[in-house]
Amino acid sequence: MNFFIDSHAHLNDPAFDADRDELLSRQLPQAGIVHSFEIGCAPNEWQPALDLCDKYPQLVHAVLGVHPEYAPQLTPEGLKQLAALLPDARNTAVGEIGLDYTCQAIASKDLQQNTFIQMLQLANQTQKPLVLHVRREGEDYASYEDTFQILKHNWKQQTNTQHPAVLHCFCARYEEAKRALDMGMLLGINGCFSYKKNEYIREAVKKAGADKIILETDCPYLSPQGKRGQRNDPSNIPLIASFVADYIGIPLPDLAEITTRNAKALYGLP
Ligand SMILES: [Zn+2]
Repeated sequence: MNFFIDSHAHLNDPAFDADRDELLSRQLPQAGIVHSFEIGCAPNEWQPALDLCDKYPQLVHAVLGVHPEYAPQLTPEGLKQLAALLPDARNTAVGEIGLDYTCQAIASKDLQQNTFIQMLQLANQTQKPLVLHVRREGEDYASYEDTFQILKHNWKQQTNTQHPAVLHCFCARYEEAKRALDMGMLLGINGCFSYKKNEYIREAVKKAGADKIILETDCPYLSPQGKRGQRNDPSNIPLIASFVADYIGIPLPDLAEITTRNAKALYGLP
């Protein structure tokens, strides 16, 4: 049996209210999922993410931060609360944080950038790795350019780790991948890799190679090809992995082993 890590999930989403425990206690172990990283990226999601870790201490780990879309929800008290929660042993990283220029009607560019910088300052203090969310508007890659600039000026990259960050939900060209890889980042690969129109993502990932990627679902969203329109969950990781293994031309057990090792290195798991 192959063992996998889901490096990015939202299992506290209401979409899982009916069967969350069944999923975590039975279906995930059956699918070979040994770790799942629960993203708490709005103030009201932080404590529930830590609570899920308490309920499944071997399986679930937290990643806490403020998603650009939720930037308007962050108050000065919230920022203090987050600073106090980040060093918690159950929390492995700061995320998902970054820039999303598709949601400027909810959070202006300025607000997103200021919040991102605040998150980087917390990451600098706590020495935790980053889970980055960068989303562009159509063919305009300004959100990537702005992300790399902000990182350059505000992020004290950890030097004691091989992979200090992941570009989650990688959905860009090799050009952007290369800039991230040059900073030691990993690429988070999910169902988007398998969608028919996304040949450019597959090409970029093939060029980057298995050593530079980790697997994720971003569930309940982004079910892989063949399951689109259905709720996504971490038991789809082996299916995502088989799309990647087939395309880049390596055996599935090798991909499972490499991506598991990469995710452990990123999140500091033994
Ligand atoms: Zn996410």
